[in-house]
Amino acid sequence: MSKSPKYTYEFGKNTDGDATMRDLLGGKGANLAEMARIGLPVPPGFTITTEVCRYYYDNDHNYPQELDAQVKKAVKSVEKQLGKKLGDKKNPLLFSVRSGARDSMPGMMDTILNLGLNDETVEALAKFSNNERFAWDCYRRFLQMYGDVVMGIQKTPFEDEEPFEMVIHEFKKEISPETNGEIEDSDICAEDMKELVGRFKKLIKDRTGKNFPTDPWEQLQGSIGAVFSSWMNDRAIVYRHKYNIPAKWGTAVNIQAMVFGNTGDDSGSGVAFTRDPASGEKILYGEFLTDAQGEDVVAGVRTPRPVIELKDVLPKSHAELIDVQEVLETHFRDMQDFEFTIEEGTLYMLQTRNGKRTGLAAVRIAVEMVEEGLIDWQTAVQRVPAEQLDQVLAPIFNSDAEKAAEVLCKGLPAGPGAAAGRICLNAERAVDMAKHGDVLLVRLETSPEDLRGMIAAKGILTARGGVSSHAALVARQMGKICVCGADEVQIDYDKRIVTIGEAKFKEGDHLSINGTTGQVYGGEIETAPSEILQVLIDKSLDAKDSKSYENYAKLMEWCAQATKLGIRTNADSPGQVANAIAFGAQGIGLTRTEHMFFEGKRIDAMREMILAEDLESRKKALKKILPYQRRDFAGIFETLDGLPATIRLLDPPLHEFVPHDQEAQRDLAKKIGCRIADIKRRVDELHEFNPMLGHRGCRLGNVYHEITEMQAQAIFEAAAQVKAKGIDVHPEVMVPLVGFPKELEIQKGIIDRVAAEVMKKKKVEIDYMVGTMIEIPRACLVADEIAEHAEFFSFGTNDLTQTGLGMSRDDAGSFLPFYQDEEIVSANPFAAIDQRGVGQLMEIGVANGQKTRPDIKLGICGEHGGEPSSVKFCHSIGLNYVSCSPFRVPVARLAAAQAALEEEAAAGGGKAKDVKKAKAKKAKAKDTKKSKSKKK
Ligand code: ADP
Ligand code: MG
Ligand code: MG
Repeated sequence: MSKSPKYTYEFGKNTDGDATMRDLLGGKGANLAEMARIGLPVPPGFTITTEVCRYYYDNDHNYPQELDAQVKKAVKSVEKQLGKKLGDKKNPLLFSVRSGARDSMPGMMDTILNLGLNDETVEALAKFSNNERFAWDCYRRFLQMYGDVVMGIQKTPFEDEEPFEMVIHEFKKEISPETNGEIEDSDICAEDMKELVGRFKKLIKDRTGKNFPTDPWEQLQGSIGAVFSSWMNDRAIVYRHKYNIPAKWGTAVNIQAMVFGNTGDDSGSGVAFTRDPASGEKILYGEFLTDAQGEDVVAGVRTPRPVIELKDVLPKSHAELIDVQEVLETHFRDMQDFEFTIEEGTLYMLQTRNGKRTGLAAVRIAVEMVEEGLIDWQTAVQRVPAEQLDQVLAPIFNSDAEKAAEVLCKGLPAGPGAAAGRICLNAERAVDMAKHGDVLLVRLETSPEDLRGMIAAKGILTARGGVSSHAALVARQMGKICVCGADEVQIDYDKRIVTIGEAKFKEGDHLSINGTTGQVYGGEIETAPSEILQVLIDKSLDAKDSKSYENYAKLMEWCAQATKLGIRTNADSPGQVANAIAFGAQGIGLTRTEHMFFEGKRIDAMREMILAEDLESRKKALKKILPYQRRDFAGIFETLDGLPATIRLLDPPLHEFVPHDQEAQRDLAKKIGCRIADIKRRVDELHEFNPMLGHRGCRLGNVYHEITEMQAQAIFEAAAQVKAKGIDVHPEVMVPLVGFPKELEIQKGIIDRVAAEVMKKKKVEIDYMVGTMIEIPRACLVADEIAEHAEFFSFGTNDLTQTGLGMSRDDAGSFLPFYQDEEIVSANPFAAIDQRGVGQLMEIGVANGQKTRPDIKLGICGEHGGEPSSVKFCHSIGLNYVSCSPFRVPVARLAAAQAALEEEAAAGGGKAKDVKKAKAKKAKAKDTKKSKSKKK
């Protein structure tokens, strides 16, 4: 018989789990265990595994049979450690029931505190603690949380306030009519608390028709079920999509003995970070409330105080926290975000996790931790989420404009950067308003229901709440520009008016916030590039005057040390190329020549070419285009200064270049001197039912050889020109949309011939290559034949995704969001490579190409080249480089370095395994020898 599976893991005196077990115990459970192991004061408890969550959903909300007995045993163990008992009439044990997934999903799922209270145990708690008000305060909190989370009493669309809050509000008005109910919770005395408890029970009965369950075991059952159910609540689902967390991970449930921060002024609760999560500065950062339970700090009912003030209120606890800061950082070797409670002067740790941080802070912390000797540079590179690196490039306010503006008020700088936009007071409206321009979501406080609006908004401003408020949390995680707790901001939601001091704003008016300093301004302040861009691109700031640039540069230096993948850029103009090189690009992976046709007079020559009736007139028009192209290529080659440039021949269908409305057609007729009827006819001829699959790519050059000829001539003449100036040039001519080897063979023939002619005429040697884009599935399958004519492949993953999935990028908007919601696709395949499908096509293409030409150069030039997971994939299939837009180059460099380091780590692990295997083999060999010799 197999041993029954282990569904519960204890922490406390006996600790079963540790930090490595996040998949099974969730992040919270694993780290509670780890903290217990290293001797930090953690109230004892146990974790029900994520496996049970999966079981729960796979089995129609039932539990594995063994669970009940294991829970009972674990509860007994906690009871024994504390000398208290669940439901005891003398010294009752109370529990918290807490969710906790593998990755923390702050505030997304539910928590229940003070479980175990009923009319009898509350009396016992009052007597035992000698604090009646405290006991009844716990009871009322429990009823409120249990009623909300387990019994589902929540506000209806017709209510403005949570039902329990409404009862409190009314009650406060009754007991303090002179203040119209404007009193603190702490002003409610024990007797009144009892009355409130009665009203809560009545509310529960009225709303559900059921009595609140008094049996602690039944309460525990209900709470466990509610936590598992909360895995599928709306906001958790939205959150998981945003962060690509699969539903099958499930949540764990942590059941932990309560400690109490609400017993009086020598108690309290708080949240702290071992470094400032917005700026990265190494200080103990956070906030607390005295005489409060944890959820008060986050809920925004009372405004918490900065943790530094704990020094005055409870100096001993403050000193202990400083020690904890040190212990946590040296043990976890990362910035920690932790929750604590102080019960009558004794500190307890309730949670720790790697703290979410802004991109700016991520870079600073990684670099400084290396300097402090806490981590090595390889770890630092892996610590900064590549996606977040974009944030350090985000605009700031133009400093002159900001100085000239009047500061209306100041809040907490929770998400660095500058944001200006129209005020919107409601998350739903923000989603709509954001379609027509930048929006600032301005609210008293935000809650998980506001998530969609927050995602849509450019920046967030709140009047209440500190660094652990929901707004600050979201800002850190999403890189939103955010100022929170600006208490001078007053909001009238009904009239849709914001008042800050004397100034009044209507919804739709402009406001500006500086998330780096916390300052709020009226109107729209002009923005400027980030410091890093000022150093690298504008050259208006000296490198040594910018700390954030220095940190960034250090990180990039480390990336360069680790990276195996080359990083190129997609750029069509010398300006873009220069930017990309400043960011560290090593060449061009894609120049789209058609982008050069739209400016000024060129488009006329282009149109003349397209409308030409015969070869003669087409060649005449092409002659006009040639000098433009040549000049463009020369400019790019000069800027590249010896770096390679992949230049793609004309790709889009010709109809994209011709005018479709009558006005413009008449205009063109005049300009090129032909009849409007002829233009109309030609435009009609060019019409295609499905242009994406029509006459485009190399199909153009194969029908009109003269187009390829002209483009090749422009490329090689430009190269000769630039080379004559003593600048090295390496053109790589790329033929698009090849599916049949012959298509490329013909094009290569033309290119090679023109190249030879130009080189002969100009008497120079040009080191060039001819290759192709691999962007339709057939090309992957016959890549071995294509490689006979191609010196390089560049995967055009935009079209490869469209053709591979049979899905048009421009039309996918109507169903793709739905597909993501339903998890039919795990991510948007146009943003991140669909590795299973399109990725497999790429692998086939690589393998086939290398069969014919082992040293074939391999790259990617689709939009995916700047997306971290895709960059890592490209590394793993052995591409030589990725190419992305200039401003994504830093992100791609970081992702590429991470890919190399991950691979190294995996290979290291692999090696160790190999050694083990080899040893085992040897041992086995010995054994056989022995037995052989025995036989002898
Ligand atoms: P979340 O994941 O939303 O942060 P938690 O499970 O951390 O939810 O619980 C929220 C708060 O409840 C904690 O910050 C803490 O202050 C309080 N809390 C949780 N467990 C306990 C406990 N055992 N004793 C006292 N307070 C607790
Ligand atoms: Mg928490
Ligand atoms: Mg294409």
